Amino acid sequence: MSSPKVYIGGKLYEKADAKVSVFDHGLLYGDGVFEGIRSYNGRVFRLKQHVDRLYESARAIHLVIPMPREEMMRAVEETLAANNLTEAYIRLVITRGAGSLGLDPRKTSDPQVIIITDSISLYPAELYEHGLKIITAGTIRNHPAALSPRIKSLNYLNNILAKIEGTNAGCLEALMLNHKGEVAECTGDNIFVVRRGEIHTPSIDAGILEGITRDAVIDLARDAGIRVIERTMDRHDIYTADECFLTGTAAEVIPMVELDGRPIGSGKPGPVTKLLHGRFHELVRGDRQLAELTS
Ligand code: PMP
Repeated sequence: MSSPKVYIGGKLYEKADAKVSVFDHGLLYGDGVFEGIRSYNGRVFRLKQHVDRLYESARAIHLVIPMPREEMMRAVEETLAANNLTEAYIRLVITRGAGSLGLDPRKTSDPQVIIITDSISLYPAELYEHGLKIITAGTIRNHPAALSPRIKSLNYLNNILAKIEGTNAGCLEALMLNHKGEVAECTGDNIFVVRRGEIHTPSIDAGILEGITRDAVIDLARDAGIRVIERTMDRHDIYTADECFLTGTAAEVIPMVELDGRPIGSGKPGPVTKLLHGRFHELVRGDRQLAELTS
């Protein structure tokens, strides 16, 4: 197999030559934004939504991406084609660019546009069958007035610290609460519960990333006639739920069967989770259309 090619600022580089400056504020300060995207069977899933979220994140940190959205979408497709990938994970990264050793973004120039494509690494297959067991992290999600969780920024330390708590406890994910003690999301996934046939998930106001998989799953559930309620949630809602599942670009829809040592529902993946997991696969492979895209 030929070596992977990485897109940087309009050109493709061999992996070993794909480099940016050590003075880049993306490295020095985590000053930049990113996206994680998937392609299935050569089709990029919800590329426009990912690119829109990327430009919104950039806007929120006062970073101007030096190319229009259409060109960004083309660059993603071209990088995938150059790497001969059909089932891929795509990482889009925009850095503030190289500057001086001070914080001031005005002293930077040349934001870097980077596109990395790779094969996908999912959670182990048995977890889709038996479900994830996770804990609640003590690290709370960033206060929205400090750094909005809606920005997918290159500074992921908040999530990384919670992830470390999870892995130290032997878990692959961890639940994060917000500054009010409400359920927010997991370190890299959104969370849903099923209660008496309805689906509940924290609203964006809880201080979470508006996941693109989350939006797709809400659409799919409503399309299947299941009521979806976005609301304030606390851990009681999870401990006493009938089912729970997580959503994310890499994870897709994965059952979560235990939180803090407490089994959720029957302690096994439930029927609504299985239904949505199946429908999500049909959607990403183009075998299912949604009547109306609501989100
Ligand atoms: N929350 C966080 C903090 C994330 O990093 C991610 C994954 N990027 C998600 C939720 C899920 O979002 P998406 O479905 O767009 O991948």
